[in-house]
Amino acid sequence: MRNATLALHAGFDMDPTTRALAVPIYQTVAYGFDDAEHAAALFNLEADGHRYSRISNPTIAVLERRVAALEGGLEAVCVSSGQTAIYYAVSNLVQPGGNVVSVPQLYGTTHSMFDHFLPNLGIDVRFAASDRAAEVEQVIDHGTRAIYCESVGNPAGNIADLASLADLAHRRGIPLVVDNTVPTPILLRPIEHGADIVIHSLTKFMGGHGTTLGGAIVDSGKFPWADHPERFPMFNRPDPSYHGLIYSQRFGAAAYSARCRSVYLRTTGAALSPFNAFLLLQGIETVSVRVDRHVANAKAVADFLSSDARVAWINYAGLENSPHYPLVRKYLGGRACSLLTFGVRGGFAGGVRFYDALRLIKRVVNLGDSKSLACHPASTTHRQMSPEAQLAAGVTPDAVRLSIGIEDIEDIIADIDTALDAAVG
Ligand code: PLP
Repeated sequence: MRNATLALHAGFDMDPTTRALAVPIYQTVAYGFDDAEHAAALFNLEADGHRYSRISNPTIAVLERRVAALEGGLEAVCVSSGQTAIYYAVSNLVQPGGNVVSVPQLYGTTHSMFDHFLPNLGIDVRFAASDRAAEVEQVIDHGTRAIYCESVGNPAGNIADLASLADLAHRRGIPLVVDNTVPTPILLRPIEHGADIVIHSLTKFMGGHGTTLGGAIVDSGKFPWADHPERFPMFNRPDPSYHGLIYSQRFGAAAYSARCRSVYLRTTGAALSPFNAFLLLQGIETVSVRVDRHVANAKAVADFLSSDARVAWINYAGLENSPHYPLVRKYLGGRACSLLTFGVRGGFAGGVRFYDALRLIKRVVNLGDSKSLACHPASTTHRQMSPEAQLAAGVTPDAVRLSIGIEDIEDIIADIDTALDAAVG
């Protein structure tokens, strides 16, 4: 089935006991055991079933199956936020002393995790000079355990050349980890281009209504962990915290996601709530029609801004003169996402006047809501980064980022038009 269908049906038919068609909210912490032997089998990971909702829950399991199906992955693990997903995904792969190589165009808090938080835990992150595979390769060494990128950078709008990054990663015997939050699997499925692990902030377009934080780690099931026992001992050596279990032997292709759940979710517990899983499932049901509308509206806004004398510059990968356009055609069928950045004439001060004059478009640090949103990355989401790192991430002091929603396009453009007048007129 295709994604518009999977978004409504994957992972759930109807409730086996009540025949409820909507996914029930299993608001429970614990699950009963038949007897001691049944409990032991569950705790030994020998029997399928739920034990405790920090580790798994039937409502969350539907969300996990649905996100995995949409991405064409083998399994997914859902967690409390996109940041948790990134943290678990990377630390499940890299031990202290190892390193990750990342492209520079990242969401600000991910950059902060990579620049400060992970190094404090002994995991080094090396930033390549650009997202080009040749430059990424220059910072890989014998300690590198993964290549990391955003499929579409927030807010840089760059499109990662996933096939060439995957090719590089696999030549070096390491996985490619891709944050696919901005395009969603409706526009781009990174596993089809060689990605091994896909991450989501479900908080954004997937949930789509700006109500619920959530994250997902999707395991393609394709990376051959067992072929690299020295590089990835965590999947290939007995785990003393799980009575000597060897993940690659017990779980085969699902070794990565099984360890993510049994080690990271079980011991650090940043679990999603069943109610939030339900809300995210509600959102995902309509992701395909929403994304279509987001994209059409964003293209109309980009066309309007690119022909307006009050606008100094615009960065939108869906414009044919954008340097990112060839990769938009290659990976996204020519449909860029609904994030764009631009500068108003009058530089930083003009941008502030524009931002303050918006009425319909809301001033918030979020993206992917059904409502149109505006943000000034240099003073908010990317504020903690050095000026050089900001520039490498596509954040100039005057850049305004718009996340175009699904309102009537004439109302969106009218608001932008009025705010441009206030800024420049
Ligand atoms: N990844 C990207 C690309 C993001 O833009 C964000 C948040 O803006 C995150 C991850 C973090 O997601 P969350 O806010 O759900 O933790």
